[in-house]
Amino acid sequence: MYDFVVIKYSEIGTKGKNRKVFESKLMNNIVLQLNHKVNAKKIYGRIIVTPKENEKIDETMLNSLKKVFGIKSISPAIEVKKDYEDIKNNIIKLLKNKNIISGSFKIDARRTDKFFPIRSFDLNKNLGADILKEFPNLSVDVHNPDYLIRVEIRHEVSFVYFENIECFAGYPVGAGGKASIMLSGGIDSPVAAWIMMKRGMKLNAISFYSPPSNNEKTIMKLIELSKKLSEYYPFKFYHYIIPFTDVQIAIKNLNVESYSLILQRRSMLRIASKLAKHTNSQALITGENLGQVASQTLENMITISDATNMLILRPLVGYEKLEIVNKSQEIGTYDISIWPYKDSCVAFLPKNPATKSYSDKLKKYEERINDLEKLENDVLNKSLVYVIKNGRVLENYIFSDNEVL
Ligand code: ATP
Ligand code: MG
Repeated sequence: MYDFVVIKYSEIGTKGKNRKVFESKLMNNIVLQLNHKVNAKKIYGRIIVTPKENEKIDETMLNSLKKVFGIKSISPAIEVKKDYEDIKNNIIKLLKNKNIISGSFKIDARRTDKFFPIRSFDLNKNLGADILKEFPNLSVDVHNPDYLIRVEIRHEVSFVYFENIECFAGYPVGAGGKASIMLSGGIDSPVAAWIMMKRGMKLNAISFYSPPSNNEKTIMKLIELSKKLSEYYPFKFYHYIIPFTDVQIAIKNLNVESYSLILQRRSMLRIASKLAKHTNSQALITGENLGQVASQTLENMITISDATNMLILRPLVGYEKLEIVNKSQEIGTYDISIWPYKDSCVAFLPKNPATKSYSDKLKKYEERINDLEKLENDVLNKSLVYVIKNGRVLENYIFSDNEVL
């Protein structure tokens, strides 16, 4: 029944040339994220999304649109002729179709096409009166109506709608640089990824796991997480999954159990930085959150990040756990994150990890490992690479089969 979807987007901070870039990125991302099932064009501070032949505006399409960052709200609309009777009949059709027979409404008509002979004020009044005749149990409320029925008479096209479905806003992906998210199987890092995507960042994901103790199920969980994230992402989403066991064994053999977690995190950061540079990422993102666990005291955050000179973004650092949990439920990653499969074998996790550490000391330990750099390069070259788009794995391969560091 709908002809197109009217998209509103926030223009705050997007003036002049930036605004044009914002709009064209957004239109491009809409088409990509909806798998080329729609066309997008701009009219007057709005974007109009029209389904291609054989496609229609249904719940699935609206749900996909809701996930495009940069969109503030969406409104499925019916196109009308520049003719009073046609406008009136289509409003009636819209209300009947939605089964709206009681409650209050207001007509809000805007006429930018001044060739249309009826002024907005008269349109509001006359349409209001005619709707009341057709639906005797509706009433008019101009201050706080249940249904705000919009009529837009524009040069290019005219239409009616009343739904205004709020979306996530943010910036179109691609407007804010590129980063690599350190994605564990936990609750936090997928939320961190989502937040930075919403700020317009292009992303790829890097995960570490410990085969053979946690193989298929861990990989499946990680892939499910990135499939979910890919629903918000217009481009191919690359996920690098790194078999970390050899490095973990070398660290374990140092016999400094309380520092092993910090040493592992430092190694993860070095490997991730290398991969990030290789994929043109400008920064790393983690789900770290200043808190109680040993890896996330301020002292350890300092010594962990000392392992790389790359910028590390920690969008969740000041969040409450409950806020993160709520967010992960809202975006759909929570149910996957609570699957029990661990990203790292428990055998490599210290019982009493140090809450304080010093870089000098850690560097000394690292020097005791025989050719740590080679070991780190080797595991990186064994990474599994998954290419994901719109919730589906397109292909997967071993890193060194396609690209070697
Ligand atoms: P999360 O819920 O994201 O796992 P967490 O509260 O469990 O976070 P930690 O396990 O201390 O916290 O991890 C802190 C951050 O380090 C994670 O958010 C993630 O960005 C990164 N990280 C930890 N383990 C891994 C891993 N196996 N692979 C990739 N990144 C990891
Ligand atoms: Mg974790």
